[in-house]
Amino acid sequence: MNHDLEDIAIVGGGLAAIRTAQGLRGLGFGGRIHMYSDESEPPYDRPPLSKDFLTGALDTGGLHLLNPKALATLNLDIHLDSEVVALDPGGRRLTLADGTTVPYGRLVVATGAQARRLPGLAPSPRIHYLRTVDDARALRTALANASRITVVGTGFIGLEVASSIRHLGLEVDVVAADEGPMIGIVGRRLSRWLTDLHTAHGVRLTNSVVVSSVEESATDVSVTLGDGTSRSSDLVVVGVGVSRELQWLREAGLEVDRGLVCDADGRTSDPFVFGVGDIVCLHTGAEHEDLQHWTAAIDSARRTAHALLGIEHSHDPSDGFFWTEQHGRRLQFVGTGKVDAETDVLSGSIEEGKFVAHLRSGSTVTGVFASNSPREFLEARRAFQKQTAASTAG
Ligand SMILES: Cc1cc2nc3c(=O)[nH]c(=O)nc-3n(C[C@H](O)[C@H](O)[C@H](O)COP(=O)(O)OP(=O)(O)OC[C@H]3O[C@@H](n4cnc5c(N)ncnc54)[C@H](O)[C@@H]3O)c2cc1C
Repeated sequence: MNHDLEDIAIVGGGLAAIRTAQGLRGLGFGGRIHMYSDESEPPYDRPPLSKDFLTGALDTGGLHLLNPKALATLNLDIHLDSEVVALDPGGRRLTLADGTTVPYGRLVVATGAQARRLPGLAPSPRIHYLRTVDDARALRTALANASRITVVGTGFIGLEVASSIRHLGLEVDVVAADEGPMIGIVGRRLSRWLTDLHTAHGVRLTNSVVVSSVEESATDVSVTLGDGTSRSSDLVVVGVGVSRELQWLREAGLEVDRGLVCDADGRTSDPFVFGVGDIVCLHTGAEHEDLQHWTAAIDSARRTAHALLGIEHSHDPSDGFFWTEQHGRRLQFVGTGKVDAETDVLSGSIEEGKFVAHLRSGSTVTGVFASNSPREFLEARRAFQKQTAASTAG
């Protein structure tokens, strides 16, 4: 097969992949775009998987990022169930899991991340992770026959799953090694507020404990913790962060760190290879930064589409924004998280669960957090962006 610079291959079929393709078409790119995804589902949105999809309020059709007509308009060559296993940057070829090789002119790596596994835990119908729609379907089915669930992890996935489980009227224990829920992002004070929020909704939360073993019997699964106690339940859901599959990129000679090392416009160490979304580890001068959130994936896709076509742009890199929904509250955050952040309430009241707060380290505002205050958050976010831009310029 011939390949020329007009052909763009995108590996991955998630949010960053489809937004890159949309960006390219929006900028007038008329060449061929091949998209290789190892999933069977056309591009879909992941945030609802732990929220409305899990509670049954949304079905698979409602997850798709584009309807069939809009997808067809993009004129993409979408190859589903097509895992890419190797990359030959010199010959500009990809190898698929079935052994076929395919050429590319330029390549976009949009392979996202995978749910991190708990070490030593064998796969089982009673142990669940949540990253893909298949994971979510399996969990939803299992929940229909369960009454007690143990969730491991108090990051936003674990907390959202716990919230959805309570919404379904089931019992849930959440255990985590961290000192408090989302503590590395929101700091101690707001983490305590999150503990109170979950407790008030019937979640039994235990932090600062490690899982020492998980044992299954014919009827249940028992999680034993480092403090000697154990939690017995029908199912375990593990939400302990993500890892990224980097081996094939490393073997191809690309620079990798915690992720695929890219500049803010998605350029990698190979001039014909770009990275977008959760796979990216942003190289910002002396530091490598991870931005694994929905809005960051969109921002990186937009910037990379311009870079692929050599078009100047004025889009700022992502500001670290993300949102989460727990017990009917919309929680929004922007900035850099810190365990020991001080909290200054800007509006509303923490006790009433409707507020906007600055997170501060000494005299520096490092982030903004809001609960059920989208309008006020927007204002505070703008001010925070201005302050960050001014301090970077200065
Ligand atoms: C349950 C859940 C809830 C979330 N909720 C929120 C939220 O509330 N707010 C927020 O800001 N963010 C949220 N996120 C994060 C957000 O969804 C991600 O940041 C976003 O999906 C990243 O998009 P991506 O395209 O980079 O990666 P992904 O969405 O992971 O897509 C990558 C795709 O590439 C495929 N792939 C991987 N390797 C290969 C290969 N070798 N060959 C072919 N295909 C491959 C994968 O199967 C996948 O389809 C949530 C994530 C999950 C899992």
